[in-house]
Amino acid sequence: MKVTYYACVDIGGTKVAVSLVAANGAPINQHTALLAKRTEPTIKTGAHTALPRQMIRMIDEACTSLHATRAQVVGVGVSSCGPFLSVAGQLELVASNICGGKSGLQNNDWHSIALERELRKVFPVLQIENDAVAALLAEVAWGALQGTRHAAYITWSTGIGAGLYVDGRVLRGKNGNAGHAGHMIVGDALCVHNQALVCGCGNVGDVQSQAAGSGIPKRFGMPSADLMRLAQSGDKEALRHVDLLCEDMARALYNLTAVLDLERIALGGSVFWHNQALLLPRLQAGVMRRFPAMTQGLTIVPAGLGLDVANYGALAALMGAPLREQ
Ligand SMILES: [Zn+2]
Repeated sequence: MKVTYYACVDIGGTKVAVSLVAANGAPINQHTALLAKRTEPTIKTGAHTALPRQMIRMIDEACTSLHATRAQVVGVGVSSCGPFLSVAGQLELVASNICGGKSGLQNNDWHSIALERELRKVFPVLQIENDAVAALLAEVAWGALQGTRHAAYITWSTGIGAGLYVDGRVLRGKNGNAGHAGHMIVGDALCVHNQALVCGCGNVGDVQSQAAGSGIPKRFGMPSADLMRLAQSGDKEALRHVDLLCEDMARALYNLTAVLDLERIALGGSVFWHNQALLLPRLQAGVMRRFPAMTQGLTIVPAGLGLDVANYGALAALMGAPLREQ
């Protein structure tokens, strides 16, 4: 029997990751091996089709490394930063951290990327999902949110996003963009030049502009990794800055908890994941000290699938996400 594969693609504002999993092997779960994993910086220049082409090339290269061909890929799951637009029934990507057409903040004039149209030409079995929703699906199925009915997955990375799960259902909203929690307004901190912090979406004061990996250099004058390293070494000013970041994130987490009556929040994303010991206790304290009727019974935990949550998310989306049918 010829081996077949599913391809898992994770599109972020910074990097694209691709891996393959055996499609005709053991049942898919958190122990399923991610094969031929590769990562590249997200292409943000050239033709409108540059990003879908990059994904297709990376899948081809992953196949080659396993002595397989594209024909052996029987399905592709894509976990992508949003938001999306539906154009003639197909999803187009309008993420402000990739498309520069509206904001002028990127080196391209793309207003949207016809992700679904371009990928479907090559891979007819395709499921594209918002990355935080995909991660939520994977965490509920195989990770730290197993057994819950009221939960959220939050990614704290280049951007900030959420997948929301209430009464055993994934929340989607009028344009499928529910969970874009990064654009909730939480504060009014200024940048190092004493000007308003503006998000790629144009908002002032949203949590993505205040606390995301892309906003930290503007707010504190250094990349998030440097700030976290200084804080971990005990630098008092860096620790104060981390406290401010965690307060803004805690406001966002509390707001979601108050609105949705959550029992568990799982946290992932590179900013959180590499600095858990520093960030998790501050986030927990910042949420739990607020209105007890909202916060009692809530636990805030690291994602069970760790840094692979996006890859497993793409896989969970492709698996038809049985949760969606509930
Ligand atoms: Zn925003």
